[in-house]
Amino acid sequence: MGKVTGFIEYQRLEEAAEAPRARTRHWREFIVHLSDGDAAVQGARCMDCGIPFCNQGCPVNNIIPDFNDLVYRQDWKTALDILHSTNNFPEFTGRVCPAPCEAACTLNIHDEPVGIKSIEHKIIDKGWEQGWVVAQPAESRTGKKVAVVGSGVAGLAAAQQLARVGHDVTVFEKSDRVGGLLRYGIPDFKMEKSHIDRRIEQMTAEGVEFRTSVTIGNAAAGAKKVVEPQQLLANFDAVVLAGGAEQPRDLPVPGRDLDGVHFAMDFLPLQNKVVAGDKIKDQIVATGKHVIVIGGGDTGSDCVGTSNRQGAKSVTQWELLPQPPETENKPMTWPYWPIKLRTSSSHEEGVQRDWAIATKSFRGDADGRVAALVAARVEWHTDAITGLAKMIEVAGSEFEVPADLVLLAMGFVAPVGSVLENFGVAKDARGNARATTDGAGCYQTSVDKVFAAGDMRRGQSLVVWAIREGRQCARAVDEYLMGSSVLPR
Ligand SMILES: Cc1cc2nc3c(=O)[nH]c(=O)nc-3n(C[C@H](O)[C@H](O)[C@H](O)COP(=O)(O)OP(=O)(O)OC[C@H]3O[C@@H](n4cnc5c(N)ncnc54)[C@H](O)[C@@H]3O)c2cc1C
Ligand code: SF4
Repeated sequence: MGKVTGFIEYQRLEEAAEAPRARTRHWREFIVHLSDGDAAVQGARCMDCGIPFCNQGCPVNNIIPDFNDLVYRQDWKTALDILHSTNNFPEFTGRVCPAPCEAACTLNIHDEPVGIKSIEHKIIDKGWEQGWVVAQPAESRTGKKVAVVGSGVAGLAAAQQLARVGHDVTVFEKSDRVGGLLRYGIPDFKMEKSHIDRRIEQMTAEGVEFRTSVTIGNAAAGAKKVVEPQQLLANFDAVVLAGGAEQPRDLPVPGRDLDGVHFAMDFLPLQNKVVAGDKIKDQIVATGKHVIVIGGGDTGSDCVGTSNRQGAKSVTQWELLPQPPETENKPMTWPYWPIKLRTSSSHEEGVQRDWAIATKSFRGDADGRVAALVAARVEWHTDAITGLAKMIEVAGSEFEVPADLVLLAMGFVAPVGSVLENFGVAKDARGNARATTDGAGCYQTSVDKVFAAGDMRRGQSLVVWAIREGRQCARAVDEYLMGSSVLPR
């Protein structure tokens, strides 16, 4: 523990950010990492708890007290090594993770938690600036071949771990670029894509082969190049399915097929492609439009930030559930992730938010374009018999609002298309690949030598969970191939 009285002396310091109005004029990141001195002070707030709840709250179990102390002492290189020992890509989580570690921090019981995410962000940015992040090729090769289906963060973490113990890893990606939702879901203003590119360079130097625009199975109609699962099974010793959970939740109400009503993921990737320099014909844009975003999560928030940058006339975001409390009841919720009102940086840039609203229909104009939404207010009650929450429409509350663009951001239900069927992999009740995460045979699907990780196994989740699953799955694959593994769990 660096400074015994640090948590009493110092206040939490948030990272600096460009002002909302200025940052909506560009697509770049706008959060500035802490200075060396500020990071040291934030590290000094850590109490080095006997039971570090932060470490348990973090899905990759980052060794947080240790790197906090090292940052306080300005030993950045060792801090980076400790961070990398549990997390392949801290620059991703240091930018987009909601930081469940901070909710679990002991200081959070009565004070502001240690700024763990800002310390992580600082350590990894410094590591790249100093040239400390280098390729770690395996010292010897095993001669075993592993195919990874999907280049999202789960696939990348699995591929990197497997390459580092000497397997020949090929990543197959149906999109034209590597990165999954990091590349084509999360906007550049939250995470610039150069962070993915330099990891791909590192992984290529470690021996990973990337094959983009290749679809495994017939999942995407019109795919340029399709490789059948049987081919993969014949040519590789193991296959990791990390194809994400791309099937969006729909809103099948009258008028759903009107022009101007789109899934968020029909909208967001196009802007990321434009930022990457692609020319997009008929890009769906919010420019000059009244935009309604349906769904109150991360995806909806990204639609808000993107719409504001495109110059929307107004942006409104609706959520079906009631407005959560501004602050949590800490003794009731700590160290768990609390349900409370969360205002993202995109919300700060301008949006009208409203809760407990159910959309009943979309109304169109004579040209078949959406012109308005018909909605009603709802109340949530607990059913006396089942104990389940029950939604009841408030009588007489129906209303109509104009809308030129409606973005559906209500979550994702399951992996898309038929890739799991093509492999003959059994699914769980939600349609994800069925595989456990503990014990013998963990991460293995019902098909021999086929493993599954990330959103494709656990359902739509977070970047940090996808990293955890990719790493743990890599160990399971290594054990399967070699009988034992030196990879961490
Ligand atoms: C808009 C949006 C914003 C988000 N924001 C955040 C955030 O701020 N913080 C956070 O922690 N999480 C966020 N998430 C969630 C997070 O991005 C995901 O949980 C995580 O990226 C999942 O990683 P994955 O590798 O499992 O899947 P994905 O990232 O979905 O990657 C799967 C990849 O597999 C490819 N693929 C699928 N099928 C095939 C096939 N048959 N053949 C070849 N390739 C295939 C896909 O093209 C894709 O590239 C967000 C999600 C969305 C949609
Ligand atoms: S719970 Fe908070 S104070 Fe305790 S070790 Fe972790 S970061 Fe430090």
